[in-house]
Amino acid sequence: MTRCLLALCLALTSMAFSADLKPGVAVFGGQHYTEFVPGELPLVISAPHGGLLKPESVANRTYGVRDSDANTQDLARRISAEIKKQTGGQMDLIISHLHRSKLDPNREIKEAAQGDKTAETVWHEYHGFIEQALKAAVARHGRAFFIDLHGQSHKDVRVELGCMHLAPSYAEKAEVLNATSYISTGTLKLITQLHPESPYTELLSGPQSLGALLEERGFLATPSPRMPVPTEPYFRGGYTVARHVSAESKIAGLQIEANRIRLRDTPENRQRFAESLVSALQVYLPKWMNLDLK
Ligand SMILES: [Zn+2]
Repeated sequence: MTRCLLALCLALTSMAFSADLKPGVAVFGGQHYTEFVPGELPLVISAPHGGLLKPESVANRTYGVRDSDANTQDLARRISAEIKKQTGGQMDLIISHLHRSKLDPNREIKEAAQGDKTAETVWHEYHGFIEQALKAAVARHGRAFFIDLHGQSHKDVRVELGCMHLAPSYAEKAEVLNATSYISTGTLKLITQLHPESPYTELLSGPQSLGALLEERGFLATPSPRMPVPTEPYFRGGYTVARHVSAESKIAGLQIEANRIRLRDTPENRQRFAESLVSALQVYLPKWMNLDLK
């Protein structure tokens, strides 16, 4: 019975949302625990761990990571605003408003919601919004780029770019890294299909890799030409990028783990990083995805 009700709710929800979405006009899941700002560009960003709400009606999670990624909700909104400013276009933005102690959308549902029925519904809504956004972006532009935005406080202060490869694997020989078997385990496979002339290592840590473009703009990053093999600890990407990215669906993407110092700690630093990331994406997306943010 509960399952039927949930399915019915989800069906009604998606009908309501697909009916008349307007770029830049936010829609919300139940009780405003998830927010979806629809866009018109081939870029979709989600922020799963910046939620602030701790309603008593949702049970506390009792295992797994329960700390939030401080200020990532604000950072995601600044990135969206900066894209609008630099390109005139609206990107898709999906935000989880529940604190991570209540829901971790970047886990499969069992660990994410830990049996709480409301949290489970919110989890479905959140991932439904991402799916909807990516599907629409691919329909509009032929392909789409997806970023799952996080924050970390690792000792080595740098932005970590995760496309599902484990840190030590980057130390393999170029012929291993450039083989289809390795590429297929990552989330940038679509780009290698668009650019068969470029070895995968160029995309991961070459002079026009996202890591290189961020370092040029004053933010240390890995993988990058300076650090092609990330030192550990390193976040390689998680449930969300693994679930929503696929070359077959014409979607590439990665997880961005923004460090706290000089980047997430003050409004000025968040603004500076938002501007630099957008500037980097304005080079990266035309070069690698053959897409303009316009
Ligand atoms: Zn996170």
